Order: sequence, then C-alpha cells, then structure tokens
Amino acid sequence: MVDPAKFHPTRLHFLVSSARHLAEELRAEGFTVDYAKAATTLDGIAAAKKRHGIQTVVAAHQSSFRLQAALESIGVQCVENNFFLTPRPLFNSWAESQKSHLMENFYRKQRVRLGILMVGSEPVGGQWNFDAENRDPLPKDHAPAKYLEHSTDAIDAEVAAELGIEPPTEWATDRAGALKVLKHFLANHFETFGRFEDAMNSTDWAVHHSLLSPYLNNGLLHASEVITAALKKFDTGAIPIASCEAFIRQIIGWREYINGMYWYLGESYKEENQLQATRPLLPLFSDSSKTEMNCVRSIVSDVEKRSWVHHIPRLMVLSNLALISSVNPQAYLEWMRNQFIDASDWVMVPNVIGMGVHADGGRMMTKPYAAGGAYISRMSDYCKGCAFDPKKRTGDNACPFTTLYWDFLAEHHEEFAGNHRMAQQLAGLKRLTDLPQTRERAKEVLDGLSAGTI
Ligand SMILES: Cc1cc2nc3c(=O)[nH]c(=O)nc-3n(C[C@H](O)[C@H](O)[C@H](O)COP(=O)(O)OP(=O)(O)OC[C@H]3O[C@@H](n4cnc5c(N)ncnc54)[C@H](O)[C@@H]3O)c2cc1C
Ligand code: SF4
Repeated sequence: MVDPAKFHPTRLHFLVSSARHLAEELRAEGFTVDYAKAATTLDGIAAAKKRHGIQTVVAAHQSSFRLQAALESIGVQCVENNFFLTPRPLFNSWAESQKSHLMENFYRKQRVRLGILMVGSEPVGGQWNFDAENRDPLPKDHAPAKYLEHSTDAIDAEVAAELGIEPPTEWATDRAGALKVLKHFLANHFETFGRFEDAMNSTDWAVHHSLLSPYLNNGLLHASEVITAALKKFDTGAIPIASCEAFIRQIIGWREYINGMYWYLGESYKEENQLQATRPLLPLFSDSSKTEMNCVRSIVSDVEKRSWVHHIPRLMVLSNLALISSVNPQAYLEWMRNQFIDASDWVMVPNVIGMGVHADGGRMMTKPYAAGGAYISRMSDYCKGCAFDPKKRTGDNACPFTTLYWDFLAEHHEEFAGNHRMAQQLAGLKRLTDLPQTRERAKEVLDGLSAGTI
C-alpha cells in the first residue's frame, strides 16, 4: 500500500498544486469542476457520486495495477489513457511475438510505425542508434547552465503551507510553466543532450537533461507535442542527429516500452527477487549524511533537495549500489517511489525491478547494470573530492563500488555463467589474484553501509 505520508514534500507539492491549477484552468474555460479532498480515491469517488447523484463514473486507465483494481472494484468504467502513443493491445502483440524483449527492437518498430526520423524505410542519418557518440563526460571547464526558476502563485503557496514547506521553484505546477520548461530545453540543452546524456556532475544537477518527466507523467505535457517541437527544432539544422535521435528514443522508445512492459509483465512482477537480495534499505538512502561516499552523498542530497536526479545517477549510482550490496528490491523500490517527483508504479516498477537491480532474472535487460568505481570516476567529477580511491578494491580507502562490484560477481558467478554478455566480466573475475582479500573487505564495507558509517 502506498503511504503518501512518506512522499517527498516536493513530489506532494507538485502533484497537489498541479491538480489545483488544472481545476482553476478548467473553470476558467467554462467547465464545472468539483475539486474534493478525501482520505482515499475511493472515498472521494463515493462522496462525489452521492453529492451529484451519479450512477456511472468514467476514468482514464490508471497508473498502477492496484489503483486500476480498486476503481474497477467500485464499478468505475475505464477508457484508454491517452498519455501514451502505443495502444496496449499493440504493445502486447509485439511483446508476445518476441523471444527477448529488447527495447531497441521495439524502438525501431516505433520509428517506422510513427514515421519519425525516417526517410522512406531508412533511418535519418543512416543509423538507428548513435549511442557510441553519446558517452562523453563533461569537459573539465564545464560551466553549469542556468536552470529555470518558476515563480509561485497563491495556489502554490497554499499547498506549500499545508505541507509546512516553502513553495519549490524548480518545478512548474501549471501548463504554461511546463511549456516554458520544454522551450528552455530546446533552446539551451537539446543540442548537447545526446553527447553528455551519461555525464554526471557535482555542481550541475541536471546537466543537459530535459526535466520533462514530471509533466509528461501528470499530463501537463503530451508526448506528441514534445516530439513535434523537438523535430521542428531539428529541422532548423541546429541540432546534431545524435542528440535528436537520443532524445526521440527516450520518448517514443524507452517511455512507451516501460509502460508497455509494466502492463505486459503483470502485477506479480513487482515482487520479483531472483538474486535473493535481503539486506534492509541502507541508512544512506534516507539520510545523505550517513555516508562518506562522495558520489552517493551528493546524489542523495540532490534527491533530498529536488526530488529528482537524472537517469545515470538513478541507474549507475543509486540502483547500482542497491544491486551490488544486495538491498531488498522491494525496499529499494518503495524508497524510489516515495522520493521521486516523476514516480508512478507503471514507470518505477520496470525501471527498478528490471533495469535497476536485475531482480527479474533478465526478463527485461540482458545483463545487470553493475559497475565499479571506474565507471563513476570516468563519467563524473565525484571521485576527486572523495575519501575513497576508485582504483582500489582492498584496504581502508578502497572504493566501496569497486570492492562490491567484484564481490557481487563472485557471489553470483554461477547465475551469470550462461550469459554471454557477462563473459568479459566473469573472465576479469577469474584473473583477480586478490579475490579472497577483496571479499573480506566487502564484508567490512557491507557492515559499514548497513551501519551508516561508510
Ligand atoms: C531506477 C530508475 C528509476 C526510474 N524511475 C522513473 C520514474 O519514476 N519516472 C520516470 O518518469 N522515469 C523514471 N526513470 C527513467 C528516467 O531516469 C527518467 O525518466 C529521467 O531521468 C527523467 O528526467 P528527464 O525528464 O530530464 O529525462 P530525459 O533524459 O530528458 O529524457 C526525456 C524523457 O524520456 C522519458 N524516459 C527516458 N528514459 C525513460 C525510462 N527508462 N522510463 C520511462 N521514461 C523514460 C522520460 O519521459 C523523460 O522525461 C527511472 C530510471 C531508473 C534507472
Ligand atoms: S571513489 Fe568510489 S565512492 Fe568515492 S566518489 Fe568515486 S565512485 Fe563514489
């Protein structure tokens, strides 16, 4: 059961204030709106039915199995949710026809079906994928770009007062503000989005990411208008194909694939724990001061401040740490879902269970996203200010990521032995001459992480 009391206040503020703004906008357009507060959605619907003497309630398909079942249990009629570009039956027929559900295969079909970045039957630029050009770290002299600060109004202030916080200014809470974010991204960050999409930085909280997920997920923006605006900008010739393709892939590929897979994989998928990870949630996730690891402290502190970090900190730092320290996937999922401004079951469950911590035994991703400190060192500036050394796996100043990465491979080498995509990593494991010492150090690291002292 989701407990809103545990939600990040910025997330709650965004959701509630956006809803109240929408109610006002609809009233201004002449609609009759009954905005009601209730303890639960079901209580709210029951009270509204009574108030208005309504028999039939119609709603869009919900964002989780739980809510969907709850609404159906009281006879609410659900119609297809138009927040997405791919009808569920179409996705299911694709999924049923596949042996392994590679996002890349789905994405190519989407490009053809939707006629996006295509010349006849060929992809624009002659390639489907420009990932190889899109893995640069930021240059040493990178100067963070200015991000939009949103002005707040009486509704924002009212919601903030109810939550006992100052109104956040990083996130828009109405359609006009969401459109400003889209415009700002296209003008200032789209060109470099692709090249630096994997880069992380301690002084630049969003790098060149779009910051659009909250608005796409709560309906303030629609995926099709974002794509249309992006393609229009690309047609001016100002945007390299590698950036445009990378951004389009996120929206028509990843976003649609994740939603399709959530419903395709079924409700029990969320409970998967194939690596049998049982460690309780590490204290550092709930309190950034509970770790000496510079990367984790900085990223968790960004989550504390804004309820958001971009894809690579989510995947390669937070989830990677949960994976290689065997944190229970459901405990980690609950933390992520409560903390992130753009969270919903349809998007959190596959991203965490499948992509983040490989708890599904590889039903979504062909291999786990496990990495040592070398990856974080290459893609960020975190290691410079850290008490640990990303190159070391033993000793007091060994990087916990590096130590735990090898320990994780050693622990699970039998499960991964049949996976050809893990062959290189397992061959590396075989060559380690200090594996016993590394595994000894891993025990100390795990104890320290559980105690909140590393
Ligand atoms: C462990 C984990 C948890 C995640 N949880 C969420 C979540 O709760 N909500 C959420 O919207 N995204 C989630 N993502 C996906 C992705 O990290 C965010 O969509 C992205 O960071 C949002 O920032 P942005 O809008 O600047 O995205 P950009 O990098 O600018 O990408 C543009 C858009 O593409 C879409 N997108 C890209 N990747 C994904 C993806 N894997 N799944 C779904 N949509 C995607 C988003 O709508 C995003 O706004 C998660 C990823 C991981 C690894
Ligand atoms: S040395 Fe390890 S813990 Fe420290 S910032 Fe680098 S990757 Fe993170």
